[in-house]
Amino acid sequence: MPTFDIVVVGSGGGPDETNLSAYLLKPHEAAWDDGILALEAGSAQGALAELLRRDPLLFKSHNDPTSRTYSASEIYSFVRCFLITHPHLDHISGLVLSAGSFTGPRKRIYAIKETLNDLESVFSDRIWPNLASWSEDDEEYKLLYSLLLTDNKYKTIFPDVSVRTILLNHGRNETGQYGSVAFFIRHDVHGREFLFFGDVEPDSVAAQPLTITVWRAAAPKIPQTLSAIFIECSWPSGRSDDMLFGHLSPEHLVDELVALAVEVVNFRRGEQSGVRARPVRKKRKRNPVSHSELVGALDGLRVFVMHCKDDLSSVSDKSMRDIIVSQVRALVEEKKLGADIIAVKQGMHIGI
Ligand SMILES: [Zn+2]
Ligand SMILES: [Zn+2]
Repeated sequence: MPTFDIVVVGSGGGPDETNLSAYLLKPHEAAWDDGILALEAGSAQGALAELLRRDPLLFKSHNDPTSRTYSASEIYSFVRCFLITHPHLDHISGLVLSAGSFTGPRKRIYAIKETLNDLESVFSDRIWPNLASWSEDDEEYKLLYSLLLTDNKYKTIFPDVSVRTILLNHGRNETGQYGSVAFFIRHDVHGREFLFFGDVEPDSVAAQPLTITVWRAAAPKIPQTLSAIFIECSWPSGRSDDMLFGHLSPEHLVDELVALAVEVVNFRRGEQSGVRARPVRKKRKRNPVSHSELVGALDGLRVFVMHCKDDLSSVSDKSMRDIIVSQVRALVEEKKLGADIIAVKQGMHIGI
């Protein structure tokens, strides 16, 4: 029985503006009209309207025999909050463009301070009308800025759902390292969670590694408590490190999955020797993990690959997404890590 239902409104990483990062989420046992959590909002009502034209039963619940259909506007009226990893346009443009026509209760935008500040410069009565405020009492503003801290704690953001936010690298800008975040999203009743990455630069390229923090937090939970990871792979194989622009390629994604597998093996070694898991400190000595120990380390884990950048100059039937995902799958199979690699496609209904 799944814990969450997810509908993929958009899963691309640009330049196709009709298919940008946007995921609608609800606890499996709840109905869509009980409330929806929107994870990223690159695409929104326009993309969803098109998906609903093609598949009017996209939001059909397995436990709902009535097969109710909804309009895109109705679905977004059920959204209680948006969870945004970083303010690049391909993650917020749907939220901005749709904001004026949102109906239903006031919606929170959850993000770290830097992201909310950048959104404020958009909702400024210059780039876009000001439709958001920081005050709980401003009912006339459709959106409410709500701060997420990277304090390692889970914060309740939705009935029975809480989130832990961890900072990531996403390239550099004039102020230095540019940040994005990963979210651990937990169903507080079932205790199960999944991991959702914003755009991310590989640790091997970044000035200061940060992804490893996410892997260390995830490792003890795999696969019983945490069996699904959504992560980007923007580029195809063979792209040079100086052309990554803060994103992953298949080689780097698989390096990151190996880093996770190493943490999983180390955690299980500690369990077997009866040592209670403690946060790993920098200087603690550990025996290196061999290739053979990594075999099957990620059994039971599903890795959903998203944010592949489209190649709109190609006339081939095979999408860039399918090329990238098959490259990732081949590398993971070569290392026998055990993880199942799945392409995230617009219009998918995913149970996790
Ligand atoms: Zn992006
Ligand atoms: Zn980005």
